[in-house]
Amino acid sequence: MSAVPVEHAETLEAYAAATAGCTRCRLSQGRTQVVFGSGNPQADLMFVGEAPGFHEDKQGLPFVGQAGKLLEKLLAGIGLQRSDVYIANVLKCRPPGNRDPQPDEIEACESHLFRQIELIEPTVIATLGNFATKLLSGRPLGITRVHGQEQRTTLAGRSLLLYPLYHPAAALYTPAMLKVLESDFARLPELIGATIPEAAEAPAPELTLVVAPDAHVEQLGLF
Ligand code: URA
Repeated sequence: MSAVPVEHAETLEAYAAATAGCTRCRLSQGRTQVVFGSGNPQADLMFVGEAPGFHEDKQGLPFVGQAGKLLEKLLAGIGLQRSDVYIANVLKCRPPGNRDPQPDEIEACESHLFRQIELIEPTVIATLGNFATKLLSGRPLGITRVHGQEQRTTLAGRSLLLYPLYHPAAALYTPAMLKVLESDFARLPELIGATIPEAAEAPAPELTLVVAPDAHVEQLGLF
Protein backbone atom coordinates (compact mmCIF):
# COMPACT_ATOMS: atom_id res chain seq x y z
CA MET A 1 0.00 0.00 0.00
CA SER A 2 1.20 3.54 -0.64
CA ALA A 3 3.10 5.45 2.01
CA VAL A 4 1.06 8.46 3.04
CA PRO A 5 1.71 10.83 5.91
CA VAL A 6 -0.26 10.20 9.09
CA GLU A 7 -2.05 13.55 8.95
CA HIS A 8 -3.60 12.33 5.70
CA ALA A 9 -5.76 9.82 7.58
CA GLU A 10 -6.74 12.47 10.10
CA THR A 11 -7.91 14.76 7.36
CA LEU A 12 -10.21 12.10 5.94
CA GLU A 13 -11.59 11.60 9.42
CA ALA A 14 -12.10 15.33 9.79
CA TYR A 15 -13.89 15.45 6.46
CA ALA A 16 -16.13 12.56 7.55
CA ALA A 17 -17.00 14.46 10.71
CA ALA A 18 -17.79 17.58 8.70
CA THR A 19 -20.05 15.57 6.40
CA ALA A 20 -22.07 13.98 9.21
CA GLY A 21 -24.48 16.91 9.35
CA CYS A 22 -24.85 17.36 5.58
CA THR A 23 -28.22 18.76 4.44
CA ARG A 24 -27.40 19.34 0.78
CA CYS A 25 -30.28 17.25 -0.45
CA ARG A 26 -33.66 15.84 0.60
CA LEU A 27 -32.13 12.50 1.60
CA SER A 28 -30.90 14.11 4.82
CA GLN A 29 -34.51 14.15 6.03
CA GLY A 30 -35.07 10.41 5.91
CA ARG A 31 -31.67 9.05 6.84
CA THR A 32 -30.62 7.55 10.16
CA GLN A 33 -27.09 8.77 9.53
CA VAL A 34 -24.63 9.71 6.82
CA VAL A 35 -22.73 6.67 5.53
CA PHE A 36 -19.45 8.32 4.67
CA GLY A 37 -17.29 5.31 3.83
CA SER A 38 -14.96 2.91 5.59
CA GLY A 39 -11.69 1.09 5.26
CA ASN A 40 -8.05 2.00 4.85
CA PRO A 41 -7.67 5.76 4.28
CA GLN A 42 -4.37 5.01 2.54
CA ALA A 43 -5.74 2.30 0.27
CA ASP A 44 -4.48 1.90 -3.26
CA LEU A 45 -7.80 0.33 -4.17
CA MET A 46 -11.09 2.10 -3.61
CA PHE A 47 -14.58 0.75 -4.33
CA VAL A 48 -17.47 3.05 -5.11
CA GLY A 49 -20.99 1.67 -4.91
CA GLU A 50 -24.36 3.30 -5.37
CA ALA A 51 -25.98 4.35 -2.09
CA PRO A 52 -26.53 3.01 1.41
CA GLY A 53 -29.37 0.55 1.83
CA PHE A 54 -31.40 -0.36 4.89
CA HIS A 55 -28.59 -1.99 6.87
CA GLU A 56 -25.97 0.56 5.88
CA ASP A 57 -28.23 3.39 7.02
CA LYS A 58 -28.74 1.68 10.39
CA GLN A 59 -25.09 0.78 10.95
CA GLY A 60 -23.45 3.81 9.35
CA LEU A 61 -21.14 1.62 7.25
CA PRO A 62 -21.19 0.86 3.52
CA PHE A 63 -21.86 -2.62 2.18
CA VAL A 64 -22.84 -4.43 5.36
CA GLY A 65 -25.92 -6.20 3.93
CA GLN A 66 -26.10 -9.15 1.53
CA ALA A 67 -24.24 -7.31 -1.24
CA GLY A 68 -21.54 -6.45 1.28
CA LYS A 69 -21.14 -10.08 2.26
CA LEU A 70 -20.57 -10.94 -1.36
CA LEU A 71 -18.12 -8.08 -1.75
CA GLU A 72 -16.15 -9.46 1.21
CA LYS A 73 -16.10 -12.94 -0.35
CA LEU A 74 -14.91 -11.56 -3.65
CA LEU A 75 -12.18 -9.64 -1.82
CA ALA A 76 -11.17 -12.79 0.05
CA GLY A 77 -10.89 -14.55 -3.31
CA ILE A 78 -8.06 -12.16 -4.25
CA GLY A 79 -6.45 -12.27 -0.82
CA LEU A 80 -7.81 -8.97 0.45
CA GLN A 81 -10.09 -7.89 3.25
CA ARG A 82 -12.16 -4.80 3.87
CA SER A 83 -9.39 -3.21 5.91
CA ASP A 84 -7.06 -3.33 2.87
CA VAL A 85 -9.35 -1.20 0.69
CA TYR A 86 -11.59 1.82 1.03
CA ILE A 87 -15.31 1.48 0.34
CA ALA A 88 -17.65 4.38 -0.36
CA ASN A 89 -20.77 5.17 -2.33
CA VAL A 90 -21.94 7.79 -4.83
CA LEU A 91 -24.64 8.84 -2.35
CA LYS A 92 -23.89 9.07 1.34
CA CYS A 93 -27.51 8.84 2.47
CA ARG A 94 -30.09 6.14 1.89
CA PRO A 95 -32.71 6.85 -0.77
CA PRO A 96 -36.18 5.94 0.53
CA GLY A 97 -37.10 2.34 -0.24
CA ASN A 98 -33.68 1.95 -1.90
CA ARG A 99 -34.91 3.68 -5.03
CA ASP A 100 -32.39 4.83 -7.64
CA PRO A 101 -30.35 7.93 -6.89
CA GLN A 102 -31.85 11.01 -8.56
CA PRO A 103 -29.66 13.28 -10.72
CA ASP A 104 -29.98 16.23 -8.33
CA GLU A 105 -29.00 14.02 -5.38
CA ILE A 106 -25.91 12.80 -7.23
CA GLU A 107 -25.01 16.36 -8.10
CA ALA A 108 -25.45 17.51 -4.51
CA CYS A 109 -23.35 14.65 -3.15
CA GLU A 110 -20.59 14.23 -5.74
CA SER A 111 -18.17 16.70 -4.21
CA HIS A 112 -18.06 14.51 -1.08
CA LEU A 113 -16.91 11.60 -3.21
CA PHE A 114 -14.39 13.69 -5.13
CA ARG A 115 -12.95 15.01 -1.85
CA GLN A 116 -12.64 11.42 -0.58
CA ILE A 117 -10.76 10.46 -3.73
CA GLU A 118 -8.50 13.48 -3.31
CA LEU A 119 -7.70 12.53 0.29
CA ILE A 120 -7.30 8.77 -0.21
CA GLU A 121 -5.37 9.04 -3.49
CA PRO A 122 -6.16 5.52 -4.72
CA THR A 123 -4.37 4.21 -7.78
CA VAL A 124 -7.39 2.11 -8.82
CA ILE A 125 -11.07 2.88 -8.34
CA ALA A 126 -13.42 -0.03 -8.93
CA THR A 127 -16.88 1.29 -9.63
CA LEU A 128 -19.69 -1.04 -8.65
CA GLY A 129 -22.63 -0.75 -11.02
CA ASN A 130 -24.01 1.89 -13.31
CA PHE A 131 -24.30 4.93 -11.11
CA ALA A 132 -20.69 5.00 -9.91
CA THR A 133 -19.40 4.02 -13.36
CA LYS A 134 -21.29 6.73 -15.20
CA LEU A 135 -20.44 9.40 -12.64
CA LEU A 136 -16.71 8.68 -12.48
CA SER A 137 -16.19 7.89 -16.16
CA GLY A 138 -18.23 10.92 -17.19
CA ARG A 139 -19.74 8.74 -19.92
CA PRO A 140 -23.24 7.35 -20.37
CA LEU A 141 -22.06 3.83 -21.24
CA GLY A 142 -23.75 1.16 -19.14
CA ILE A 143 -21.94 -1.37 -17.00
CA THR A 144 -22.82 -4.28 -19.30
CA ARG A 145 -20.68 -2.66 -22.00
CA VAL A 146 -17.76 -1.53 -19.93
CA HIS A 147 -17.31 -3.95 -17.03
CA GLY A 148 -13.86 -5.46 -16.72
CA GLN A 149 -12.26 -2.82 -18.95
CA GLU A 150 -9.90 -0.53 -17.09
CA GLN A 151 -9.56 3.02 -18.30
CA ARG A 152 -6.94 5.56 -17.33
CA THR A 153 -8.54 8.76 -16.24
CA THR A 154 -7.90 11.87 -14.18
CA LEU A 155 -10.02 12.29 -11.07
CA ALA A 156 -9.61 14.82 -8.31
CA GLY A 157 -6.49 16.01 -10.13
CA ARG A 158 -4.78 12.62 -10.17
CA SER A 159 -4.24 10.04 -12.84
CA LEU A 160 -5.69 6.67 -11.84
CA LEU A 161 -7.27 3.55 -13.27
CA LEU A 162 -11.03 3.31 -13.30
CA TYR A 163 -12.21 -0.29 -13.33
CA PRO A 164 -15.97 -0.80 -13.76
CA LEU A 165 -17.51 -3.89 -12.20
CA TYR A 166 -21.01 -5.25 -11.90
CA HIS A 167 -22.65 -4.30 -8.64
CA PRO A 168 -22.45 -7.27 -6.23
CA ALA A 169 -26.21 -6.99 -5.66
CA ALA A 170 -26.64 -7.85 -9.35
CA ALA A 171 -24.91 -11.17 -8.71
CA LEU A 172 -27.24 -11.81 -5.78
CA TYR A 173 -30.19 -11.86 -8.13
CA THR A 174 -28.47 -13.14 -11.28
CA PRO A 175 -26.15 -15.97 -10.27
CA ALA A 176 -24.63 -16.25 -13.77
CA MET A 177 -23.25 -12.78 -13.19
CA LEU A 178 -21.26 -14.01 -10.24
CA LYS A 179 -18.84 -15.75 -12.60
CA VAL A 180 -18.30 -12.53 -14.55
CA LEU A 181 -17.79 -10.59 -11.34
CA GLU A 182 -15.30 -13.18 -10.10
CA SER A 183 -13.26 -13.10 -13.27
CA ASP A 184 -13.30 -9.28 -13.38
CA PHE A 185 -12.25 -9.26 -9.72
CA ALA A 186 -9.38 -11.62 -10.47
CA ARG A 187 -7.64 -8.85 -12.43
CA LEU A 188 -7.62 -6.41 -9.54
CA PRO A 189 -4.29 -7.52 -8.00
CA GLU A 190 -2.61 -6.98 -11.37
CA LEU A 191 -4.20 -3.54 -11.71
CA ILE A 192 -3.04 -2.36 -8.31
CA GLY A 193 0.38 -3.79 -9.08
CA ALA A 194 0.15 -6.09 -6.11
CA THR A 195 1.79 -9.43 -5.76
CA ILE A 196 -0.95 -11.94 -5.18
CA PRO A 197 -0.68 -13.12 -1.59
CA GLU A 198 -0.25 -16.86 -0.93
CA ALA A 199 -3.79 -17.15 0.36
CA ALA A 200 -5.17 -16.07 -2.98
CA GLU A 201 -3.40 -18.93 -4.70
CA ALA A 202 -5.44 -21.41 -2.74
CA PRO A 203 -8.84 -22.24 -4.26
CA ALA A 204 -11.15 -19.25 -3.96
CA PRO A 205 -13.75 -19.52 -1.21
CA GLU A 206 -17.08 -21.00 -2.19
CA LEU A 207 -19.20 -18.16 -3.47
CA THR A 208 -22.54 -19.90 -3.40
CA LEU A 209 -24.90 -17.39 -1.90
CA VAL A 210 -27.70 -18.14 0.41
CA VAL A 211 -30.05 -15.19 0.53
CA ALA A 212 -32.14 -15.39 3.64
CA PRO A 213 -35.87 -15.51 2.83
CA ASP A 214 -36.40 -12.27 4.72
CA ALA A 215 -33.29 -10.64 3.29
CA HIS A 216 -33.83 -7.00 2.68
CA VAL A 217 -34.13 -6.37 -1.05
CA GLU A 218 -31.32 -4.02 -1.90
CA GLN A 219 -30.96 -1.63 -4.79
CA LEU A 220 -32.26 -2.70 -8.14
CA GLY A 221 -31.61 -1.04 -11.49
CA LEU A 222 -28.09 -2.32 -11.31
CA PHE A 223 -27.42 -3.16 -14.92
N1 URA B 1 -25.29 -1.13 -2.20
C1 URA B 1 -24.51 -0.04 -2.42
O1 URA B 1 -24.38 0.42 -3.52
N2 URA B 1 -23.90 0.49 -1.39
C2 URA B 1 -23.99 0.00 -0.15
O2 URA B 1 -23.38 0.57 0.74
C3 URA B 1 -24.81 -1.12 0.04
C4 URA B 1 -25.45 -1.67 -1.00
